[in-house]
Amino acid sequence: MTKLYKKTKNEIAEVANALKEGDIIAIATETVYGLAGDATNESAVHKIYAAKQRPAVNPLIVHVSSTKQIERFAVINETAQKLMDAFWPGALTIILDLKNSHSIAPSVTAGLKTIAVRMPNHETFLAVSKTLDKPLAAPSANLSEHLSPTCSTHVLKTLNGKIDGILEDDDACLVGIESTIIDTTVSPPAILRPGGITQEEIKNILPTIHHCSDDTAIKAPGQMKRHYSPQCSLRTNATSIDADEVLLCFGKTSLTSKHKTLNLSKRGDLKEAMHNLFDALHVLEDFVEKKNLKGIAITPIPDIGLGKSINDRLRRAENIKE
Ligand code: AMP
Ligand code: MG
Repeated sequence: MTKLYKKTKNEIAEVANALKEGDIIAIATETVYGLAGDATNESAVHKIYAAKQRPAVNPLIVHVSSTKQIERFAVINETAQKLMDAFWPGALTIILDLKNSHSIAPSVTAGLKTIAVRMPNHETFLAVSKTLDKPLAAPSANLSEHLSPTCSTHVLKTLNGKIDGILEDDDACLVGIESTIIDTTVSPPAILRPGGITQEEIKNILPTIHHCSDDTAIKAPGQMKRHYSPQCSLRTNATSIDADEVLLCFGKTSLTSKHKTLNLSKRGDLKEAMHNLFDALHVLEDFVEKKNLKGIAITPIPDIGLGKSINDRLRRAENIKE
């Protein structure tokens, strides 16, 4: 049974208690809903991997509500400190070296000597974390490879009955896609995954930063080519539409689908488009399945700023199942 919790003071305390006992609970952050479990409890972490059917080689991001919590298990280097000062709480995940002695469950990092850490900019999540005072492992609250969730209905689509609870908090995922990941344990520091914070914003703080493409030597473990995918076909950069496709567009366009058309941002705003991305894909995925159509066509998204993060997700969503 998946228990539904409300974000009242009492139920937030109940959620923290349940996490302490080893439950895994979906909790919203400003990026997407995370499936949270006590990162120091190996059995809770195993439950996260099992519920998501996530490959054991794909390490989890640990979420904290203070840098004091990090100091118990990882080394905050100078670069990381700069990034934390500039972007936390916020949509930036920072890779740090683990300390020699720590109590993080081994499967959180999939055996690596480094760990991914983030402080979310979300009041309810931070309240749970402060009450529990333990790091929370929290990958997105969806079956592996499926679309990420930005409301509790999306979580229930793939995890109902497989997780212990959901702390309901809709309209919470203001950013709408996952965090940007930056590795500060390599020199120069490298962006491993584009996300809610742009390369340009990071460059203002760290001029030497560069982005690792899929082909460069340093790779984020678990950065699968196929990910974030709807259960139907998806075609990006569409300039025409097939008879049995639904349409997702961006900005002004004369294209429409005779079945269903959604617009990520009529005024061509990339931040708005990013916020709407996963919800629009969920709605269209459901529609395609119900009407037995072919798939989703998406008009081009400008490959600049946050558009790069949106296009990264769409490229991975488009990859055909092997
Ligand atoms: P998510 O898929 O949103 O749960 O994000 C987790 C991603 O963070 C993983 O797929 C990895 O790509 C990345 N990650 C987590 N831990 C590490 C680490 N220690 N070193 C490099 N990348 C990591
Ligand atoms: Mg995910």
